[in-house]
Amino acid sequence: MDLVVLIDRSLPGWIEEKIVIDYVFHIGIFEASKCQYINLMKIESVLNDYSTYVNKSIFGRYIPYGTIENELKKLSSMIDLKIEGKSVEGRNIYSLRFGNGPKKVLAWSQMHGNETTTTKSLFDFLNFISSSHALAQEMLQSISFKIIPVLNPDGAEAYTRVNANGIDLNRDSVDLSQPESKLLRSFFDTFSPDLCLNLHGQRSIFSAGEGPFTSGLSFLSPAVDASRKITEVRKQSMRLIHAIYSQLQSELPKQIARYDDAYNINCIGDYMQTQGVPTVLFEAGHINDYQREDTRKMIWKSYVVILNALMHGIEHKGDAEAYFSIPFNQKRFFDIILRNCLFGDSIIDIAIQYEEVPKNAKIIFLPKIQKINDLEKNYGHNEIDLKAKNIKINGIKMNKRPQINDIWSFITVENKDIVLERG
Ligand SMILES: [Zn+2]
Repeated sequence: MDLVVLIDRSLPGWIEEKIVIDYVFHIGIFEASKCQYINLMKIESVLNDYSTYVNKSIFGRYIPYGTIENELKKLSSMIDLKIEGKSVEGRNIYSLRFGNGPKKVLAWSQMHGNETTTTKSLFDFLNFISSSHALAQEMLQSISFKIIPVLNPDGAEAYTRVNANGIDLNRDSVDLSQPESKLLRSFFDTFSPDLCLNLHGQRSIFSAGEGPFTSGLSFLSPAVDASRKITEVRKQSMRLIHAIYSQLQSELPKQIARYDDAYNINCIGDYMQTQGVPTVLFEAGHINDYQREDTRKMIWKSYVVILNALMHGIEHKGDAEAYFSIPFNQKRFFDIILRNCLFGDSIIDIAIQYEEVPKNAKIIFLPKIQKINDLEKNYGHNEIDLKAKNIKINGIKMNKRPQINDIWSFITVENKDIVLERG
């Protein structure tokens, strides 16, 4: 087995080191040749200090692109900000460059315009990397960064997955039919990254494994062919993902998953990893917070951990197959499940999923019926047992069978309103 011993060598902490080594000898699993020394205390002190780095000007699920541009203008002078091109509707697409290290990391967020969480975390990361913290300084010496904070600004503004031409940019990596896809490809070709971070957000439908645990974070080392062969390149991203999992699973127990690895060369991560560049897909998920501020913090931590791991060469060390011990993402959740709902003479279960609708620079979460019955293996982020009592829907006595896509903003049980819609 590989052994990771985590010690802070910068503290007057040789005593801690001795205790760890003594312990390791004591339990008899010490293999010096495989021992990796990582500066645990340094990274833990950063991870526990998230509030120092959070960018409080950016908050919530919808971030107008103007807010992003304003925040970019405020960045530290050590970050080289450039306009790299234009979106379909003529919005600027920016790149950020910083760091002078030998390893090159290319990252982009919001190629799906409505997936804002990883962008929020990027701004928090920019605050960290601009700080005087020793780990930030070390990263700048070890890594050269190129980051596109929002690849799809038209989709970001309109809060759509697709770009202004209605194209899913994450299915356009071969066709390159869109200006945003061409831009990303030119970065990939000219920058020659050692690692790509493909930053996304996932719907609230996923569980980590089959149990009632929401998938707060999920990651993927994409396949490089239809047989999903485990190549050396794939192993590198698998090890890096496992480093995140190892570090953060105690903080987010049973809520970190790995994403489906079905191969599709039109997906950008599959394309890049197929070209021989380790690529990690990040999916910011749901942790019982519809504004995704809790997830934002965990994604920020994931950035710090994966870059720290890269700095220490973890992509080349250890058991890559440990990646498969990470629970698999399953589609087991709905936003709301109403159990034992009385309709006529029958009792039914109703699953509701929110439709996210932008309104006045905010997102309204409209509760829409997605499924009726056959929900024994499903979980609701909010489960309500109606105990076969008479209910009203949106203030009106239920007089017809519920239909898929009906919107139930609130229900009334025993004269008490239960509001399902979220603002
Ligand atoms: Zn996405």
